[in-house]
Amino acid sequence: MSLNEATRFFRTTSFRLNLWYGGLFSVSAFVLFIVLYFLLSYLITSRERESLNALLQDYAQVYHDGGPRKLNNWIQQQKRLRKLSSFFVQITTPRGADVFLQASENWIQIDTVQLGPLILRGRSYLRIPDDDERDLIFSRGQLADGNILIAGRVTNSKNRLLQPFRQVFIGSVIPIILLGFIGGSFFTHRTLKPIRQMIGTVESIIETRKLDTRVPRSRAGDELDKLALLFNEMLDQNQALIRVMRESLDNVAHDLKTPLTRLRSTAESAIQYQPQNSAQDEALADCLEESDRLLVMINSLMSLAEAEAGMMHLDLKNEDVAKVIEDSIDLYSDVAEERAISIDTAITPPVFARMDPQRIRQVIANLLDNAIKYNDHGGRIQLSVTSTKNEVEIAISDDGMGIPEMDQSRIWDRLFRSDKSRSQKGLGLGLSMVKAIVDAHGGRIAVVSQLDQGSTFTVFLPKSADTDVQRLT
Ligand code: ADP
Repeated sequence: MSLNEATRFFRTTSFRLNLWYGGLFSVSAFVLFIVLYFLLSYLITSRERESLNALLQDYAQVYHDGGPRKLNNWIQQQKRLRKLSSFFVQITTPRGADVFLQASENWIQIDTVQLGPLILRGRSYLRIPDDDERDLIFSRGQLADGNILIAGRVTNSKNRLLQPFRQVFIGSVIPIILLGFIGGSFFTHRTLKPIRQMIGTVESIIETRKLDTRVPRSRAGDELDKLALLFNEMLDQNQALIRVMRESLDNVAHDLKTPLTRLRSTAESAIQYQPQNSAQDEALADCLEESDRLLVMINSLMSLAEAEAGMMHLDLKNEDVAKVIEDSIDLYSDVAEERAISIDTAITPPVFARMDPQRIRQVIANLLDNAIKYNDHGGRIQLSVTSTKNEVEIAISDDGMGIPEMDQSRIWDRLFRSDKSRSQKGLGLGLSMVKAIVDAHGGRIAVVSQLDQGSTFTVFLPKSADTDVQRLT
């Protein structure tokens, strides 16, 4: 992928949607993980606090009933009954002076400095990690005589309890991000399918100029389906409008043909049979010439209408393309010579295609005529024929004035003439006819042109299945 293509890709809606989807999915998954982590941690702590507070209540009750002595006896009794194994009980004055302290062996190292926050800052709960396996937890309560009671016990290390959860979290970072982006690209691809189909339809209408192409509908009843429906309706309306315009033009051409023919024969008989002075003769000759021009235009418009309606009659044969080209060149060699324009051909072996030779001669003649007409004195024209697997390509190149880019898609329209070429004679119907004939053959035509450099028109004709057999005979 080149840098330009990459920049274009990063700007596409699908890429941006994918990025948003993947990003949001990953962030939501991480937020969910963090919330769950803290919830779990909170649940562990609150369960431990509940059981520790129950113990604190027991100590307070015994102390309340009989003071430090009774508390001491009660603790000894609980130890003997193995109900207390690892424990810590301390009673201090509000200023922190010890009143009572009992703890199992391994708790001796806990000193008042560590428990300071409980006593001096009045916190109600404290957790001190002891080793990898266990934590020490302490709870604080106020006794009826104003002293402070601190109870402690051993519990599982919270860090260790939460460790598997953290490991799962770290291990799933990359899969979550990947899932986000893969899922994102899948959904983006599906969501944008109708838009891609619309782009395809528009491109195909621009390329093939076939106005009956429509966007396939999903019939899901969603916004994009509605857009496709409206888009197709708009195309229907445009197509109907263009058809009405064409039909009007065809009708006008048809209606004009009879009076024009009559006008022409009247002028002709006037020249032949009436003695005239030279000025009148000249006027009548002009009338004849203009009538001829108009009749050519009307006839072309009518046969074009016929061709576009799919009613062009083709007399199909397997014919050598080189021969058809040579015939057309013969027709134009004098005109080309007059303007010192050279015509070169590059056709090596005979190439056969299934065609109506008369019509294809008309196509090549029209393209040659343009290549000479829109070329400079001393210009060059090249004709080549190439045979691919399924098509025969006939290319006609000139080094003339070229066609402005904005006109290149319009040259196939009826009566269109580029502003640059108005100084030359023409009706603007030649290329429309060329395209209609090529279309009737099931082929296509393309143009590549650069202003002041020249143009290349390429006609693609489908090869017939028996073409090769014909070549051998
Ligand atoms: P016209 O009778 O005007 O030649 P065409 O349908 O044959 O009508 O061509 C339409 C327009 O396309 C021309 O008016 C001209 O502007 C442009 N054109 C066609 N062929 C060439 C060419 N070989 N070089 C430059 N312009 C061309």
